[in-house]
Amino acid sequence: MTTPLGQLGFAVRSIDILGIRVDDVTLDEAAAIGDAAIRSGQSHRIVTPNAEIVMAARQDDDFRRILNDSTLAIPDGAGLLLAGRLLGSPLRVQVAGTDLAERIATLSAAKGYRLFLLGAAPGIADLAASRLVGLHRDLEIAGTYAGSAEPVADVDTRARLRAAGRIDVLFVAFGAGKQEAWIARNQAILGIPLAIGVGGVFDFWSGRVPRAPLRIRRAGFDWLFRLVVQPWRWRRQLALPRFMIAAVVEGLERSRRSAGES
Ligand code: UDP
Repeated sequence: MTTPLGQLGFAVRSIDILGIRVDDVTLDEAAAIGDAAIRSGQSHRIVTPNAEIVMAARQDDDFRRILNDSTLAIPDGAGLLLAGRLLGSPLRVQVAGTDLAERIATLSAAKGYRLFLLGAAPGIADLAASRLVGLHRDLEIAGTYAGSAEPVADVDTRARLRAAGRIDVLFVAFGAGKQEAWIARNQAILGIPLAIGVGGVFDFWSGRVPRAPLRIRRAGFDWLFRLVVQPWRWRRQLALPRFMIAAVVEGLERSRRSAGES
């Protein structure tokens, strides 16, 4: 079978983490794949699985299919790296969705790709776009729109996006699950080459929510920083210990199976 990555001329090793495909790419490789996707003339989506997303997708067939059918699934979360080691399939590095979105914005400024920012609270995508243009004077923003993740709003949102003219890259910030579903429903109809669900990235870019400092991210504690900044996340973050337990159980089962085979 030709995978979408194969069509783009890339060979990437993928691993299975609790039923979710995760691609073993670096930030540079992910950006190069994004660039090729934009130039391909087809529609490609990049997804950013982390422990919370894997746990949500285990319970949701549609979400799992949307993730596994993506062009690229970057390892966005320290938990995935730990799980890869437990499962005997280590990933090389963590690739944060925020970092990839920043790289794609830099690339877009250099190559003249037009960006559209969809989602987040009213006014936030606009602030995020201003910040990006401040960083990259040549960046062309096709438009911004808070919109709604609800399917009943799709027709209206598509009209907004069509009115913006050519869009090469679409960042969607409706939160994990909703944003990937929105992209799966609408991207191909709009003929947009590259779409990425970016979660809280517009909140970071706008300055409304602080991003964890690099040292904390490198230590794998960005989840703790987010919990301090946004304490309402505690319920969602219960997925993290559940994820680690599931990964340990799956790792033990795999070891038992391979011991049985040898
Ligand atoms: N958001 C939105 N519509 C929704 C749910 C969320 O626009 O129905 C926005 C929210 O304002 C935020 C972004 O989606 O800017 C990401 O939300 P969250 O921080 O929960 O992202 P995640 O942790 O899922 O990446």
